Amino acid sequence: MNRFSLSAICGLAMLAGCSSPPPGGNPEVRVLENFTLIDGTGRPAVPNAAIAIGDDGRILYVGDKAGAPSGPRMTKVDMTGKFIMPGIINLHGHLGNVKGVTQDQKFYTEENLLKQLNTYARYGVTSVVSMGSDTPLILDFRAKQRAGKATTARVFTALRGFTAVAGYPSTVPGMKGVPYEVAKEAEVEKAVEELALKQVDLVKIWVDDHLGKEKKISIDLCKAIIANARKNNLNTAAHIFYHDDALKLSEAGLYAFAHSIRDQPVTDQLITTVKKNHTWQIPTLTREVSTFVYAKPHEFLKDAFFLKGADPEAVTGVQDQKFMDRQAKDPNLARYQEFLKTAQANLKKLADSGVKIGFGTDTGPPGRFTGFFEHWEMELMAEAGLTASQIIESFSHNAAEFLGVSKDLGTLETNKWADILVLSKNPMDDIRNMRTIEQVMISGVPVK
Ligand SMILES: [Zn+2]
Repeated sequence: MNRFSLSAICGLAMLAGCSSPPPGGNPEVRVLENFTLIDGTGRPAVPNAAIAIGDDGRILYVGDKAGAPSGPRMTKVDMTGKFIMPGIINLHGHLGNVKGVTQDQKFYTEENLLKQLNTYARYGVTSVVSMGSDTPLILDFRAKQRAGKATTARVFTALRGFTAVAGYPSTVPGMKGVPYEVAKEAEVEKAVEELALKQVDLVKIWVDDHLGKEKKISIDLCKAIIANARKNNLNTAAHIFYHDDALKLSEAGLYAFAHSIRDQPVTDQLITTVKKNHTWQIPTLTREVSTFVYAKPHEFLKDAFFLKGADPEAVTGVQDQKFMDRQAKDPNLARYQEFLKTAQANLKKLADSGVKIGFGTDTGPPGRFTGFFEHWEMELMAEAGLTASQIIESFSHNAAEFLGVSKDLGTLETNKWADILVLSKNPMDDIRNMRTIEQVMISGVPVK
């Protein structure tokens, strides 16, 4: 065994920017051992592994148990038979606006935000990007979280996204005033500057007419948003639906499609363009599910894994006759199911072509259950033909690369945050084994 002295470990920790040992002793180091490591890098799993977590919440050592540090003041935790992997990074969520099945920005409080983040965390989602429907409250929350050691899901935010004047989602009850509604390039420039000053993590645009029912922002304004964002060192992600919008936006330098192309199969021209411009794809397949699944009672509503974490008010809400009727009586109901199939086929084709896939669900709005839908999303990705390894990479190192935070998050490697899932079954055998989460840690702190 390679024996490090505790002072050597603390030395490593100091180099990593840790705080000094408390007076009267060295900080505690926890060493989890005897598990199988899936580190999120795409490398093969490591049997009989160990991970040492410093008091500061970062990883001091990870790898083969034979190389693990040992010494006094180390708490060893036996994890025989368990699988340890990085937490899930969800690149498309919406925070804070929903109570039950009602969406309204008046619900956006720190209490509601925390409740949702804790639900994400309990299901293993250790980071989430809120895609353009936030209030400034998120900025204070994010600042506090980043100044210390996060103990619930980490937040990233696009703050307020862009849409056309009277465009979606400003037309959704309770959501007026949430996005910027823009008509002129000068308005775009001013708004992007505002966002840049607030150090948003991303810029968001909604580019959709919802099958002709809503006003869609022009491609010229989208180009102005992308260009202004780039000037401020910000990337832009777009809610898209149509293939031709996706093509034009990728040509204009868009960073990511925040949904799948759903109106038609992706063409070779689109694939070539997306690859040339390095446009990311975030599939959000469960968003499609949420457009038709409530039309009649569905078995997931009785799933113990769902009921364990879902908000009871929302569970009742989606089974309310009025909520169900809205979907059952929608003239486009059959088409919504087709859109999911198209999205899945497109995901497989894009992944096979080498397009970067980032994990995202669009959870948060009514009927899109935070936490549970992330697990369902993985199953739909597997059904589309992606391997367990591709799915795990989409929410681990790919997602961290997408956010530009690979130094701190995404994989289990030395000096990164100990955002960890402990599973009782191997997710590489079957992605449904992601449901066997026994413990979630954020900054090494167990989530309750
Ligand atoms: Zn969204």
